[in-house]
Amino acid sequence: MVHKMHLKVICKIVTAVSVAVIPAIINYFVKRRYKKKLKELKLRKNKFDNSYYHCIFWTMENTKCREHMLNSIECGNNCSVTYLETIIRLLSSSKLSIALCMYHLTLKQITDALIEANNRGVNVRIITDAITFKMQHSKLKFLQKKLGFDVRVPPNEDTFMHHKFCVIDAEDLDLHKMFLGSLNLTLQGCVNNFEFVIITNNSHMITSYKDEFDLLWKTFPDIYAYNF
Ligand SMILES: [Zn+2]
Repeated sequence: MVHKMHLKVICKIVTAVSVAVIPAIINYFVKRRYKKKLKELKLRKNKFDNSYYHCIFWTMENTKCREHMLNSIECGNNCSVTYLETIIRLLSSSKLSIALCMYHLTLKQITDALIEANNRGVNVRIITDAITFKMQHSKLKFLQKKLGFDVRVPPNEDTFMHHKFCVIDAEDLDLHKMFLGSLNLTLQGCVNNFEFVIITNNSHMITSYKDEFDLLWKTFPDIYAYNF
């Protein structure tokens, strides 16, 4: 009887130890066996993530660039003219679509790049703010009124459309890219403020911003619905 009880206790101990220890041993050997393979897979994953990002910062130095902007003369790699050229190159590289969501746009250079893209058959859609749209220097009013660009604004003037981002060629994984940041596309932003812009082709970001743009586009009525 006593012998049987001992046997039962021993069995329980062995079972408990087995449950705790065996998975750990298996885990150890599997990891050791496939350590190299796991490392290779990780490396391959990183290799496939070929997205890039580029950050631009407008600093105190750029306050010297007002004249450079007005005369299109670059004072160096960090000149406001150089930074603007970088953004223009992105717009000019568009093949399929531009979805621009911008609180305020007054720069002629950007306007020209949008017109040029539109003339090449690129689908240009613009979302802006209802109040800035009506401002005298807004180029978006010109693009919409004179050239028939698709521009939409929020239905309520109390709510600022304060975004500053642009998604380019979102339909094509090889071409797609975007920029976003604090910068309004204005002379003030380029020579007077501390601002930043990030340029990237990160697929996850582009999908999020494209979805947000499409949602706003659907939500906001066509500008012709307003009496601007
Ligand atoms: Zn400069």
